[in-house]
Amino acid sequence: MESLDELLRKAEAAHGHLCAGQVLGVRMALLGLDRLGIADPHGADRKRLVTYVEIDRCATDAIGLVTGCRLGKRALKFRDWGKMAATFVDLALGRAIRIVAREDSRERARRMYPEIESESRQQMRAYRELADAELFEEQWVRVSVDAAEMPGHRGERVVCARCGESVNFGRFIEAKGELLCLSCARPELRYWEPDDRPRPPRRQ
Ligand SMILES: [Zn+2]
Ligand SMILES: [Zn+2]
Repeated sequence: MESLDELLRKAEAAHGHLCAGQVLGVRMALLGLDRLGIADPHGADRKRLVTYVEIDRCATDAIGLVTGCRLGKRALKFRDWGKMAATFVDLALGRAIRIVAREDSRERARRMYPEIESESRQQMRAYRELADAELFEEQWVRVSVDAAEMPGHRGERVVCARCGESVNFGRFIEAKGELLCLSCARPELRYWEPDDRPRPPRRQ
């Protein structure tokens, strides 16, 4: 495995800046991989791992970088729970570890570097140095990754009877004999609505 410094350099480049969240995310992912005994997540072990993240913040980018689990590979699963937590699943051995950032790590950072004025700088520094047990809680958990959720799964594709858009991975609902996309079947869950306001003229 690459060193913390090397990974932080990569994380900074990928994320656009170095921040406390990057440090925490890199450390969290390294701990998860270590507990699972996964040493080469980008090479020999690249098909072994699925990672669930519970927040979409800075740390999430770092976790993706270190584990090689990406949304586009279906190996990164997002559960929008607003928690600084992630679960690392070893598909080969059927075991998983969930790791949560400890609430008191901010206070530890403050006590460790009272001379540093900026909180984020305190944290960036301290999160590199604190022990795993001071930064995280960890717990072995069971996660059953459904066959249809696995990376590489080739799901069925249907065309929605109402909007005509195609839907992958079985994300459709059968209603009154019709196959509908989720947007048509459950319009109340749509994140968008048509915007019929007149368009300003396009700039040339
Ligand atoms: Zn950041
Ligand atoms: Zn539809």
